[in-house]
Amino acid sequence: MEHKSIKKLSLTVNTVILIMVFGLMFFFHLCNVTFLVYFSIPTSMIYVIGYCLIHKNKLNIYVWLVFFWLTFYMGVTTICLGYDYGFHLYCFSMIPTMFVAEYMSYKLKKRSLWAFNVSILIAFFYLICTGYVASFGPVYEVNSKTASAFFWIFNAMTVFGFLIFYSKYLIYSIIKSEEKLSEIAHSDRLTQLYNRHYMLQQLEAVCEMDKDCFLAMADIDFFKKINDTYGHNAGDEVLKNVSSIIKSECSECIIARWGGEEFLIFSASELSNGKEMLENLRKKIEETIIEFDNHSIHTTVTIGMAIKKSGQTVELWIQEADNKLYTGKNNGRNRVIE
Ligand code: GH3
Ligand code: MG
Ligand code: MG
Repeated sequence: MEHKSIKKLSLTVNTVILIMVFGLMFFFHLCNVTFLVYFSIPTSMIYVIGYCLIHKNKLNIYVWLVFFWLTFYMGVTTICLGYDYGFHLYCFSMIPTMFVAEYMSYKLKKRSLWAFNVSILIAFFYLICTGYVASFGPVYEVNSKTASAFFWIFNAMTVFGFLIFYSKYLIYSIIKSEEKLSEIAHSDRLTQLYNRHYMLQQLEAVCEMDKDCFLAMADIDFFKKINDTYGHNAGDEVLKNVSSIIKSECSECIIARWGGEEFLIFSASELSNGKEMLENLRKKIEETIIEFDNHSIHTTVTIGMAIKKSGQTVELWIQEADNKLYTGKNNGRNRVIE
């Protein structure tokens, strides 16, 4: 999350809490719980100070202040009104919120909030407040079943709702970020093809299964000359174009950028049209004219194809495709060697 959105979120949360404080103040007044009416005054002041802290970008202090006061407020309301109103339940939602705040402050490169230690303190505070009510009963006896039922349901629903959506969002974000990281770890940035590491993983898995399949090593011919003639950026553009042609011509295959201008194409499917597919790929690259910086660049590839032999290791299999590629290079390039 960006700094701007964290600030916006904090302002919204602050406003919602402040409105709730005034609403509760009115309710306490109706029930003649005088102490809580007066207690609502310093509480609202805390959130007014909160606006200043958010505007001055002192989010760390703001979060500390709000956590401290909210926990204190829950304790005081529980001691005054008892469990029936469900204010003590908020302690449970404080703990994940605490850890999220720690994460946000990590993202903002600010000091850690010590979520673990503070969570233990919250648990102790919860025990003290509920223990007091269990031993001595609440300070005020507000005999309104309707009010206590309303607050119990409202507070319990808010806490459960928060915990459910928070957990769902958290797991969703973890899955999304794992997918993103795995994509980054497995792909080549320039060509968007898989990288050598991912390809080796796939090939090792296939070797264990002993399936009928083939590998092809493709290498751009005289690529150094393209770089030398048109510049490195033009070379990059050729790499991108050749990669997308391989992707479209070998759509059923796993394709990796094996080295600078070398590509490894792996097909796990039946072999009947393998050679034909590679021949079409070679022709397509030969026919394509790559436009870059007012230059029309023409290129070709040489391809070495190796059908998997039973019991062959990944290293020997790749070596075979590489040997065939070099046979092609030594025999005039721009050809497929089976
Ligand atoms: P051959 O036909 O024998 O394969 O000749 P070649 O010129 O293609 O092969 P060589 O190995 O001599 O040159 C490969 C060149 O690829 C050298 C290197 O500078 C260039 N290269 C490697 N990676 C990149 C890259 O990411 N971008 C660009 N533009 N060039 C790269
Ligand atoms: Mg080359
Ligand atoms: Mg090469």
